[in-house]
Amino acid sequence: MPTSRPDSDTLRRWDLDHLWHPFTAQADWAAASPLIIERGEGAELIDSDGNRYLDGVSSLWCNVHGHRHPTIDAAIREQLDAIAHTTLLGLTHPTAVELARQLVERAPGGLTRVFYSDNGATAVEVALKMAFQYWRQKPDPEPERSQFVALGGAYHGDTIGDVSLGGVDRFHTMFRPLLFPVLRAPIPFCYRCPLGLERPDCGMACLDEVDRLLGAHPGQVAAVVIEPIVQGAAGIVVHPEGYLRGLREITRRHGTFLIADEVAVGFGRTGSMFACEQEGVTPDFLCLAKGITGGYLPLAATLTTEEVFAAFNASAADGKTFQHGHTYGGNPLGAAAALATLRVFEEERTLERLGPKVELLRSRLQEFAALPHVGDLRQRGLMAGIELVLDRESKAEFPWHRQVGARVGLRARELGLLIRPLGDVLVVMPPLSIDHDQLDRMMDIIFRCVREVTEGTEP
Ligand SMILES: *Cc1c(COP(=O)(O)O)cnc(C)c1O
Repeated sequence: MPTSRPDSDTLRRWDLDHLWHPFTAQADWAAASPLIIERGEGAELIDSDGNRYLDGVSSLWCNVHGHRHPTIDAAIREQLDAIAHTTLLGLTHPTAVELARQLVERAPGGLTRVFYSDNGATAVEVALKMAFQYWRQKPDPEPERSQFVALGGAYHGDTIGDVSLGGVDRFHTMFRPLLFPVLRAPIPFCYRCPLGLERPDCGMACLDEVDRLLGAHPGQVAAVVIEPIVQGAAGIVVHPEGYLRGLREITRRHGTFLIADEVAVGFGRTGSMFACEQEGVTPDFLCLAKGITGGYLPLAATLTTEEVFAAFNASAADGKTFQHGHTYGGNPLGAAAALATLRVFEEERTLERLGPKVELLRSRLQEFAALPHVGDLRQRGLMAGIELVLDRESKAEFPWHRQVGARVGLRARELGLLIRPLGDVLVVMPPLSIDHDQLDRMMDIIFRCVREVTEGTEP
């Protein structure tokens, strides 16, 4: 505990004077009264005045077992007594080794190599560069495989490589002149199908589009990149069942790689440890971050196969080294938090106990269908999106300036819940450890806020 700290008003003033917040309209931020989160406890956050809030978005999609979990707290303290940081450049350390072994054990079969970095964007960036380099130096090189396929609405992080893959106009359009071109496949988003089709009559024509795209660029695609099962930042877009399996089959048929960005969906979020498991898919690259440390510390991992590794497994003189690394990649404190996070999954049988919570969320979501401005409800595991629309019939969106989603978020805060909507899609993503009463309370608050904010908003 800090022995003394400036009072809340001083902190707010200093924040406004010196901080620049991520993905934040700073003038709006300055106009509101910044909330100072000082402590956490399980699924709750506590502000500087002692008010409690449910953590409805797991502190940005990463908290898994709750805040101040005794097992994870203790593991970090224990690691701290040994060493806080050393490097994997030319050295190794026990926690990173043990974690690599345990990640391989739990990941889809065949992913046997772990490359560490420190955030989700780098986990994907590493996969892109590894795939690109692999084709140039594998035994029978295919250097013309230098392009990537990404989906509409894709979000893979904020580095220039990841932004190139990005398909969220609001985030990515500004930077187009800086980016490398990608081949864009349609987002498998059934509520707003970009092909204008309807399930199930469509026969998943969006998959045929990927097939066509790869067929039109024979031997030119290094990898297809996907957020498997659920596209997060696109608005919690749940893919139709069988899409991922179909995509894996198509990438194999065209002899290209599949990169699975499980930064958001990994570590139990969709109901299984990894989302790829749900369709029995092993990708060529599996990108992990966010939940890997239980939402405690920045750590990321890119897993790949022995086949990929073998193409890099040479002496310095051969010039095949992967010339990429991050100072804090595989940091011991982060690795200790990650090992403890995996241990808690077992000790608390987190995944086994998730089912009833997923069902409770499902039934509570159904109530929203009665609200006239709820256009679509999407859920997989303990991850849901509630899409608010101006007009249900036409699916017309609210005008942007009305900030309907943001207003629901602000009202929820007054009622003791913190959520961060994506535009007018309300994101429901609490820690997996949330209990039934808290889940009920969270859904009560969201329901009330949606009603209050959208009532009387005529089309
Ligand atoms: C959050 C996210 C990222 C980026 O992770 P950072 O740790 O914020 O860099 C990448 N991919 C997906 C799917 C994400 O949700």
